[in-house]
Amino acid sequence: MTRTAARELVVLGTSSQVPTRTRNHNGYVLYWDDQAVLFDPGDGTQRQMIRAGVPASDLTRIALTHLHGDHSLGLAGVVQRISLDGVAHTVPVSFPASGEPWVRNLCDATVFHHRERLVLQPLTGAVVVPRVPGERPSRATVTLTARRLDHGIEAFGYRLREADSTSFDPGLLAARGISGPDVGRLQRDGSLTLPDGVVVRREEVSVPRPGQSFAFVMDTRLCDAVGELADGVDLLVIESTYLERDAALASEYGHLTARQAARAAAEAGVRHLVLTHFSQRYESADGSGPLAFEREARTVFDGDLTVANDLDRVPVPRRR
Ligand SMILES: [Zn+2]
Repeated sequence: MTRTAARELVVLGTSSQVPTRTRNHNGYVLYWDDQAVLFDPGDGTQRQMIRAGVPASDLTRIALTHLHGDHSLGLAGVVQRISLDGVAHTVPVSFPASGEPWVRNLCDATVFHHRERLVLQPLTGAVVVPRVPGERPSRATVTLTARRLDHGIEAFGYRLREADSTSFDPGLLAARGISGPDVGRLQRDGSLTLPDGVVVRREEVSVPRPGQSFAFVMDTRLCDAVGELADGVDLLVIESTYLERDAALASEYGHLTARQAARAAAEAGVRHLVLTHFSQRYESADGSGPLAFEREARTVFDGDLTVANDLDRVPVPRRR
């Protein structure tokens, strides 16, 4: 399968707790130009990557929200595949610090010849997750931050933000008569001397290019961090384990309902909302489960909405 966009979400699995006949355990790959972040590999992720056309060598980072099985059991298989395929770059793996013993188990779960290059990054609080030596270099300037969520065990959500920059305005370039290789020169040198001796600076013919952003929020009750992670993002992936009629269960087990997730997205100004991590209790042969989640979200959110299915591909919305 080929990518439909340079920046897109590939949904590997959408079920919470246990897989169903139609939904694999959780799992998501975010492609961002030359980077690919694997979030929360649940059981079966290695096979879902094959079905989705995501080779292990594409993965540049693995980010776990917490160490429940539906968010991490697949790490063992993915790590062994990274090793088997001889992936040459270093792959950082971030996770809540309290989950480190289980991460270490999963990274060394059976007998195999270790060729993988991993760097474990235990998270202890709201942080910018650092880049590490040996990582595949990123063309875009992006920052990954983590914030503590409110779940039964320590859990972190993630936010990826591209730095704001500028780009050439074709109209302004044309007005100054700049074209062809001169555009590259102006980009490289920051200024260009025209044939008449006039110097044009890059800023004079550029317009702001706001950075794009993405947030990944799993397994949490409503809390401040949800809104902070989701604030103004282009694409939000968020758990909606329950429907509102089971709001008491959601609260008891540290989860969101579809309406809570959608309202948080609306309040945060999210452009494209992806609901996922559905409880198996809503699985029904007639497909009414997904419809119910959509109806509930639509009562409070009027942006783009995807009620995720396995193997969905969701492009990051075009830059405003
Ligand atoms: Zn979960």
